[in-house]
Amino acid sequence: MAKRDYYEVLGVPKGATQDEIKKAYRKLAIENHPDKNQGDKAAEERFKEASEAYEILSDAQKRQAYDQFGFAGVDSGGPQDFSNVYRDFSDLFGGGLGDIFGSFFGGGGRTTQRSRGPAVGASLRYDVEIDFKEAIFGTKVDISYSHQVHCSTCKGSGGKEGAGKKLCPTCNGAGQVRHNSGFFSIAQTCPTCGGEGHVMENPCPECHGTGLMRKQQKLKVTIPAGVDTGNRVSISGMGDAGANGGPPGDLFVYVNVRPHAYFERSGHDLYTQIPLSITQAALGGEIEVMTIDDVLVKVTIPSGTQNGKVLRLRNKGVPKLRGALDQRGDHYIKIVVETPRKLSREAKKIMGELAKALGENKRPTPIPFDD
Ligand SMILES: [Zn+2]
Ligand SMILES: [Zn+2]
Repeated sequence: MAKRDYYEVLGVPKGATQDEIKKAYRKLAIENHPDKNQGDKAAEERFKEASEAYEILSDAQKRQAYDQFGFAGVDSGGPQDFSNVYRDFSDLFGGGLGDIFGSFFGGGGRTTQRSRGPAVGASLRYDVEIDFKEAIFGTKVDISYSHQVHCSTCKGSGGKEGAGKKLCPTCNGAGQVRHNSGFFSIAQTCPTCGGEGHVMENPCPECHGTGLMRKQQKLKVTIPAGVDTGNRVSISGMGDAGANGGPPGDLFVYVNVRPHAYFERSGHDLYTQIPLSITQAALGGEIEVMTIDDVLVKVTIPSGTQNGKVLRLRNKGVPKLRGALDQRGDHYIKIVVETPRKLSREAKKIMGELAKALGENKRPTPIPFDD
């Protein structure tokens, strides 16, 4: 498939500033983010396409190479995988995930500012897949992920004990550097001081003055009963550490529920399909049906039960997330009357007699639809 021009993808002119590019990308990313468009392949494709375009155009060097040589200028590093790019917002936005999540979830108040003052750390996303029954009754999931924490050697200060700060030699305190890219120049956050304008006089050797380090974190996450695909569990403060004394971001654990062979779910209600023989359906009687709790319950089948009839087992569905402990949805049983495919000689004979006893209409009248 032919790739679309990166500027076209983001809908910005060739000479767009970094700010315009960032704005355009954020708009597309928010519109097409997989969280908001579950199962929508086209949105996912647009999201990946925009992420790839942003990846190139937000980097002065890559952008210059792309402007000069097109895709050939930026593909030299081999095929890049953008499929999990939405996990890496922190890299794309330089710690701006809090910002992004703020826009997604109506958080509003949380904006990330990288330079100077305290900045909230990036929030992180982790996806877990759980079984159908685990979602209904709750479970605990062990997760392991890496996040940014304060450096243990310098306690996050970035300097050796007693070290002071000096003007950043790269930007002379401006916090920004300018790159010449073709006919225009782009201002970027200074990579040496991260926009702060100052660096440690005597940087901590462990973290090279950033005050941060990556740490592998293990957590046991409690998934409450009644969750469904798309629900998330927030773990406050377990995202990346904040900069300049800012608070850490959060960890969001997103739940994906594996389907069940015999149960379907709609909100708090469960559905199963139960086959009945024609005699059971005609004569009625009692059957036993397995609920999601693995308990057999007796169900009375009224005589003359039709195919497609739905029976209800009250309070045997999914526990309500915020309801009282015993508040659950219902379990609906859809009756499927099975016509026998093979008849023994005897059964056939009896059926023939039955046909005579019931009488057969050789010219049946249609059934109106409005019933
Ligand atoms: Zn350190
Ligand atoms: Zn600097």
